[in-house]
Amino acid sequence: MAGKKMRDRYDVVVVGAGPAGYVAAIRCAQLGYATACIDAWKDEDGRPRLGGTCLNAGCIPSKALLESSELYQAVQNEFAEHGIRVQGVKLDLAAMQARKRTIVQALTDGIATLFQANGVDWLPGRGRLLEAGRVEFQPERGKPRHIEAGHVILATGSHPIALDTAPVDGERILDSSGALALAEVPRRLGIIGAGVIGLELGSVWKRLGAEEVILFEAQPDFLPMVDESVRRVALRAFDRQGLDIRLGTRVTATRLVRGRVEVTWQRDGETEKHLFDRLIVAVGRVPNSAGLAAPEAGLLIDEWGYVHVDEHCRTNLPGVYAIGDLVRGPMLAHKGAEEGIMVAERIAGHAAFVDYDRIPSVIYTHPEIAWIGRTEAELKRAGIAYRSGQFPFSANGRARAHGHPEGLVRVLSDAGTDRILGVHMIGDCVSELLSAAGVGMALGASAEDVALTMFAHPTLSEAFHEAAMAVAGNAIHAVTKR
Ligand SMILES: Cc1cc2nc3c(=O)[nH]c(=O)nc-3n(C[C@H](O)[C@H](O)[C@H](O)COP(=O)(O)OP(=O)(O)OC[C@H]3O[C@@H](n4cnc5c(N)ncnc54)[C@H](O)[C@@H]3O)c2cc1C
Repeated sequence: MAGKKMRDRYDVVVVGAGPAGYVAAIRCAQLGYATACIDAWKDEDGRPRLGGTCLNAGCIPSKALLESSELYQAVQNEFAEHGIRVQGVKLDLAAMQARKRTIVQALTDGIATLFQANGVDWLPGRGRLLEAGRVEFQPERGKPRHIEAGHVILATGSHPIALDTAPVDGERILDSSGALALAEVPRRLGIIGAGVIGLELGSVWKRLGAEEVILFEAQPDFLPMVDESVRRVALRAFDRQGLDIRLGTRVTATRLVRGRVEVTWQRDGETEKHLFDRLIVAVGRVPNSAGLAAPEAGLLIDEWGYVHVDEHCRTNLPGVYAIGDLVRGPMLAHKGAEEGIMVAERIAGHAAFVDYDRIPSVIYTHPEIAWIGRTEAELKRAGIAYRSGQFPFSANGRARAHGHPEGLVRVLSDAGTDRILGVHMIGDCVSELLSAAGVGMALGASAEDVALTMFAHPTLSEAFHEAAMAVAGNAIHAVTKR
């Protein structure tokens, strides 16, 4: 309803319409509250768009390009194995980018429709907390207005961390948004940061034909949050794909040299330089909290810029909540969306919580990496006795039929109760398999519960079944060492 006459008072005002904010706004409206959602996002044509980073410059456009680029590399490298001969394959990057934009537009338009259907007032512009119960709304044009709000939900998300050594110019040195909008494939691509976003972006451009993709990672460990068993397989797979991941490497300087970027880095006391056509900076994100609240409002913000909240996303101010990337916890769309629902329910006086111990995580590379719960290293550090079962996709019929037998599923369960404590996967489509593990864990399933459940054959999810069976040494399609 961008543009409709707004009220002076709402039951709930949400600031930010990313997956945290728009979900909170819809749920509040469903619960019968007069709700407004203020959002500042504008697309490349300057039009207001709902959906925040996730829909406009994050989850969705990256997955659209990952899908297209995977098909492009499959048609060249995998079709022949299926007996399908294809000639004259050509990349039309403009069409690929147009497809991405169409998907983004359909989804962001969809949120506008949902707002309208639920009666959420969409207020394009900037919001600022003046005090508990009062928000300043600065529309695109015109004077700022003050809105009274029974409850305020802050959901302004995050933005990429900037590096002094590699200032983003939107041309040669790019952040993730720029890297998703490239109009040509860079021949030599450098990426600072071998985390989730760096790996996904590196995969897209490598598959589309970049000859060289080098990822510089300052940490000595690769994906430290991922279970060791999965990490090893991942590193081998990425190496084979030509992603050159340099761990323990610190970029110390960049400069533009005849339209290219010269990157200087240090590793083991040695200094090296290399020229790239494009450099992507993907070293993490910081919350959008600067200027979000008037100083006299007294909103507590920590030294890293996160709005301070308790486990129910309550800030230090009465009736003011904060959710999503703006607050502690992993910066993931579904985590923010769950917080949005929890806050709406709690405003309505319902019992609601977010299970922060079981937030699913996925890296959408190929093979995909997916996990939920604790890693083996975490269990060891916590002194929790556990058992583990593992099953390789090479022994799974569907993975073979897909032509992607790489990877494994690993289940960790409590040594005493057998309750599942963690599930770790790497392989084709494991992002979809992970939800079965999530449901099981949410219901307190043991590895034996999963082992006793019937799974359809042939499916990739049978690997989860067999890994659960392997916890007790009972996997059928893999040899168990006794
Ligand atoms: C390349 C990339 C890929 C990603 N892939 C995934 C993925 O596959 N899965 C996943 O779970 N997560 C992914 N993420 C992370 C995900 O996008 C974020 O965790 C998610 O968008 C956070 O949601 P949010 O609602 O907290 O904030 P955002 O989505 O950032 O939305 C915040 C909104 O608030 C607006 N805003 C900011 N300040 C103000 C203000 N003062 N007034 C009004 N409006 C304001 C912003 O314009 C924005 O529209 C990815 C991120 C990137 C960058």
